[in-house]
Amino acid sequence: TKVLLTGGSGFIAAHILDQLLAKKHTVVTTVRSEAKAAKIREAYPSQAASGELSVAIVPDIAQPDAFDEVVKTTPGLEVVLHTASPFHFNFTDPQKELIAPALTGTTSILRAITAHSPTVRRVVVTSSFAAILDEAHLSDPQHTFSERSWNPITLAQIHDSPASAYRASKTLAEKAAWDFVEREKDKVRFDLVTINPPMVFGPVVHYLASWEGVNTSNARVVDVLRGKWRDEVPTTGGAIIWVDVRDVAEAHVKAGLEVKEAGGKRLFTTAGFFSNAELGQIVRRRFPEEAERAPREDTKGGELPEEGKRFKFDNKETEKVLGIKWRGFEECVVDTVVSLKKIGE
Ligand code: NDP
Repeated sequence: TKVLLTGGSGFIAAHILDQLLAKKHTVVTTVRSEAKAAKIREAYPSQAASGELSVAIVPDIAQPDAFDEVVKTTPGLEVVLHTASPFHFNFTDPQKELIAPALTGTTSILRAITAHSPTVRRVVVTSSFAAILDEAHLSDPQHTFSERSWNPITLAQIHDSPASAYRASKTLAEKAAWDFVEREKDKVRFDLVTINPPMVFGPVVHYLASWEGVNTSNARVVDVLRGKWRDEVPTTGGAIIWVDVRDVAEAHVKAGLEVKEAGGKRLFTTAGFFSNAELGQIVRRRFPEEAERAPREDTKGGELPEEGKRFKFDNKETEKVLGIKWRGFEECVVDTVVSLKKIGE
């Protein structure tokens, strides 16, 4: 199958790329710079030589015509996986740095496919639990988040906090995708799937030169390894569910290429609750050489809120559609730490 994967340099996308190539699919992936393109080609020399892998440069996904050229020049595309979207909190202008690339990035890929690539049968957009959750109900045990839940956040809230800006970017981008296929249904020949993962942890297989460049969700594992949690573990945050990156990648591959019934669905990919306390203790127990840096057995903080003080979730529909058995938290943390130690600080 011929697949277009946007944002190929990303943490999640690197796993998707790896799984697609292992299954012998032909992949065109987009990145922002030639330096990143070269790193990806170097990682897969034989596929790059044979044409099973090609890397295209899309410098700015916030341009409405960003994806026109790559879509026009790639005949016979069958599946598109759109992962590129900013996930970081080091911005000064949330409208320009988060909302624009998230939102216009999503509409520009959908417009390009609709206008120039009639062979595409399915588009998968990487959305997020950020588009499902409702800040007002994160501590509410009467509230159940599911594939049908929508974050009520609006553009007016992007200056409330960095987290609000990110959550708005994912919510508005996903809404724009569903609105697009509804509005353009006479012209659109593909069906849409969104993948909505919560906090994603897992081994880094993208091209990190050092811990400095670690992606946002794995950054807390780097903090543990740097000894920042030794005396006090920080709060886990409000969105206390997680999933392994390898399972998220598999969800993209299945939803995009293998499971027809996924069409038209939002897939809420999560393995369950986690806490920073648990994360710290796994590092302490499983990596004796980190004894000086990991939290001590009695270090306080980051505990999972008790059942009466946290939301509930229901993703049975997703589990039925995808049939993925989620990896466990300890395996995930151990594999993440091993991958980070390989790179070195
Ligand atoms: P990364 O930061 O590793 O990947 C983000 C990708 O998007 C990179 O390829 C990045 O390119 C690209 N990108 C970011 N901003 C822009 C921009 N302005 N213009 C063009 N490309 C851009 O994070 P993840 O792999 O975690 O994120 C991938 C997707 O998964 C995103 O859509 C994110 O919202 C979503 N997600 C992630 C979760 C997590 O916990 N990790 C949870 C839920 C959803 P470059 O390498 O050049 O920066």
